[in-house]
Amino acid sequence: ATVKGDVHDIGKNIVGVVLQCNNFEVIDLGVMVPADKILDTADEVGADIIGLSGLITPSLEEMTNVAKEMQRRGMKQPLLIGGATTSRAHTAVKIEPNYENPVVWVPDASRAVGVASTLLSRDLREAYVAEVKTDYARIREQHAGRGEARKLLSLETARERGFKTDWNTYAPPVPKQPGIHVFRDYDLAEIAKTIDWTPFFQTWELAGRYPKILDDEVVGEEARKLFADAQAMLQKIIGEKWLSANGVIGLFPANTVNADDIEIYADESRTDTLMTWHNLRQQMEKPLDRPNMCLADFVAPRETGMKDYLGAFAVTAGGGRFDEKLAEFEKAHDDYNAILFKALADRLAEAFAEKLHQQVRTGFWGYAADENLSNEQVINEEYRGIRPAPGYPACPEHTEKGPLFDLLHATENTGLILTESFAMWPAAAVSGFYFSHPKSAYFAVAKIGRDQLEDYARRKGWDIATAEKWLAPNLA
Ligand code: SAH
Repeated sequence: ATVKGDVHDIGKNIVGVVLQCNNFEVIDLGVMVPADKILDTADEVGADIIGLSGLITPSLEEMTNVAKEMQRRGMKQPLLIGGATTSRAHTAVKIEPNYENPVVWVPDASRAVGVASTLLSRDLREAYVAEVKTDYARIREQHAGRGEARKLLSLETARERGFKTDWNTYAPPVPKQPGIHVFRDYDLAEIAKTIDWTPFFQTWELAGRYPKILDDEVVGEEARKLFADAQAMLQKIIGEKWLSANGVIGLFPANTVNADDIEIYADESRTDTLMTWHNLRQQMEKPLDRPNMCLADFVAPRETGMKDYLGAFAVTAGGGRFDEKLAEFEKAHDDYNAILFKALADRLAEAFAEKLHQQVRTGFWGYAADENLSNEQVINEEYRGIRPAPGYPACPEHTEKGPLFDLLHATENTGLILTESFAMWPAAAVSGFYFSHPKSAYFAVAKIGRDQLEDYARRKGWDIATAEKWLAPNLA
């Protein structure tokens, strides 16, 4: 199951297929599954192993809850952990200590069969379980001793060493068409041109860059077959309108306040604040010529008196007949095409984000009106500006999607909704902000200190426990 609040399951679906091909019976409970449902079902069907998947930060805590509940119920099954934000360290430190039976992190689908078979093997199980337990205990020890070793700057120093712009010599570009613009049923054929295929192959655990991967000595043949199937389905998606793409963008006056936050205003009077976007800053020790980045550094501070701007967007390719077509594949037990369909919907959502970003640069905002890049250059992001998305490394905190959705009336305009963990549903979706600053670039906030946690909690109006929950992966 994908845990409560989380919606991503392609990786988990692939694990299911791989296990089934190796004669395991798999009961996939789907997405957003509460702990009780998972554990009740495991009891009912007499499951030998329970597997949890999750992509977003709050899922880490939910997995810990499931482990505690398994202990409370006196369950015996091994617990497998997988999904993008999970890690060996997190599993060892946060999950495994809560459950006395085996807990194993499975980094990718290709390992699932080995781990599952070993855990069910009378001969191999004992030694394997002991080995994992020792390994995780060692990781916990290292983790406990790491506190002082990791050098972090104080938040104050990190702010002093932030990325600086000389606002006397730089004039931020003014949007040509400010305000909100809605796109419904956007041309899928047009979107398909900006599909980035490399991550598509990664989804299937085929390593290599597109198009070179098609001629790869090891995975080339498999990649070619998969790509041909993808092209054929893509033609049907477009021709028979299996999906519909809806999006909304907005361009607003904005200024940085309190060093790390960006205020977004209703109009040029800059008196009515529609949203304050709270950001995190890098605190790791760096060479002095490499700034301690925060996204707010790319927007003019309010005290400069400069008129700056920020954009926002939310897009999905999961509308229209998505549910209907998926149900058809699932009813026919056609796992391969069900996964292919979900993976293509994800690709189209990302490509839609790329397409609208291009229109923003060249038209709506217009700071790159004469941009003249090939599709390949666009996919390689060789343009001016970025579109960071909450939950990703430069802005890892997911709850900011709440005010972002309000700002854009995203649910009303696109059909997207947020789960209680701030995952977007349908899953084939991207939302974030546009920056025009010529030096704006993606980075990873990485580990933050206690001082920043407390400051962030204060700015958000949170208690410390809430901040610890949402910032968990970034806590040093
Ligand atoms: N072209 C790729 C983009 C994947 S990243 C694809 O098609 O899969 C998905 C989205 O995350 C990007 O569109 C961008 O909005 C955002 N993003 C990427 N790196 C980021 C970072 N370091 N911090 C914040 N957002 C990021």
